[in-house]
Amino acid sequence: MRIIGEYKEKRKKEPTGSKTKKVKKMSPLIISPAKIREKDIRSPHSKIGSLKKILDQKLSRLIREHEKKCCTCGATTNLQNGHFRSRRFFSTRYNPLNCHAQCVGCNVFKFGMSYEYSLWLDETYGADTAAKLKTESEKIKQWNHLELIELIEATKKGYYFYRDTYNRLSTV
Ligand SMILES: [Zn+2]
Repeated sequence: MRIIGEYKEKRKKEPTGSKTKKVKKMSPLIISPAKIREKDIRSPHSKIGSLKKILDQKLSRLIREHEKKCCTCGATTNLQNGHFRSRRFFSTRYNPLNCHAQCVGCNVFKFGMSYEYSLWLDETYGADTAAKLKTESEKIKQWNHLELIELIEATKKGYYFYRDTYNRLSTV
């Protein structure tokens, strides 16, 4: 009896919107994995950790496709998204200025070649770029759901669209 009582109580509190009906109609067999993923991204209940991982993956792909060669040795194979300032710094983790293609040799086995990376940054984007990124990385930045979702969506529209979106969100 107690269980039934609790069940009824719970049912009463549930919203009777179209969302509930939609979920009931859906069969797990007809939902493609891509759709499940897309649905999860948009859900307000999706975990920040999952969104960060999805953004890491999408941004990595975007950077590698855009740059096509290692910024510290010029290799064109086994590319990864090499972060100048480590991924543990969230204020620069998704900054396109901090993310460039690097081969696995430079990024992993040579620990990111940070000295060579800094020279390349300054040469490519102007003096003190590396120093500015270091300062920026030490700031505290917490990305919220909406910002992460917006960045994930922006990766689908190309490198420059992502860069502009990032610059807008990071200055808010
Ligand atoms: Zn390399």
